[in-house]
Amino acid sequence: MRHIDKMNDNQPNFLLEFRMQSEINVNYEELRKLIDNSGEKYCRCEGTKLNPEIGEFQTQLLKEQGYLCAYCNDRIPEFKKVKSKKYCKTKVEHWHPQSSKFSDNNQLDTDYQNMFICCMGGESNSLGDNNQENHYCDTAKGESFITLDPRERNHINKLKYTNNGQIYCFDYDDKATLKSEYDKIKNSKATPMQYKNGEIGYFLKAEYLTEEELNIAIQYDIEFTLNLNTTKLKNQRAAKWKDIESEVSYKFNKPHFLSEQKKQFIDSKTQFFDVPNQEGKYEPMCMVKIFYLRRRKKNLN
Ligand SMILES: [Zn+2]
Repeated sequence: MRHIDKMNDNQPNFLLEFRMQSEINVNYEELRKLIDNSGEKYCRCEGTKLNPEIGEFQTQLLKEQGYLCAYCNDRIPEFKKVKSKKYCKTKVEHWHPQSSKFSDNNQLDTDYQNMFICCMGGESNSLGDNNQENHYCDTAKGESFITLDPRERNHINKLKYTNNGQIYCFDYDDKATLKSEYDKIKNSKATPMQYKNGEIGYFLKAEYLTEEELNIAIQYDIEFTLNLNTTKLKNQRAAKWKDIESEVSYKFNKPHFLSEQKKQFIDSKTQFFDVPNQEGKYEPMCMVKIFYLRRRKKNLN
């Protein structure tokens, strides 16, 4: 998972104007209906047969995230061709759920800072697989509250990867123990939050947690809220690991490759994966490679 730098400067003008004009009746559903001078919608998450292009708002979010899903970091949008027509699929995610009363009172559903762009999270994939256990990212999260926040550099710096494609924050025994440890923290520290339908959700705010509790909450969100260790995602990450491992090994096995050259090679590779390409795109799941490279560098020292 990459850090997302939510800069207000990136906010499209129409969004600012919309929020200023309609102080009372501002909401995301209304925002999605807005059209520009040429009659095109600013917000269009999913391409259709007639309108395959993605809306201006989603494009802005895509640029900000280097065309990666905020959570799994897979490439978005996905393009599919059906009968020679191009479809694109993405979702706009609200980190703080839109259906919460707090969001309603504070207009968080149209707040640029609260919005990311995500993949379809395994929803209705080509195999017709709609099994919820296979859902991930925003699709798994739904309207839940979450502690792990891609806008927080300190959260992102805690994330690690393994050669078999696991993403994790700390080594835990098993899922049942993780869940019970999380529940204990939730029972003592979570803030009850009301949804618009009257139901209650629980928000475990990072600022109220000790470092150890934060690690548990982040691990819980990885495994449960976002379901980021599905077989599909793990296989994709493992492939990235294997790629960079063989590239580094090939280079390091060359005779007379000096320690200083090794360091330079690692640095230039890290830099390569840590900046977007000419089209503004990061390599999907590039953090796996960056993590691997940083670890190799540490071992060189
Ligand atoms: Zn995703």
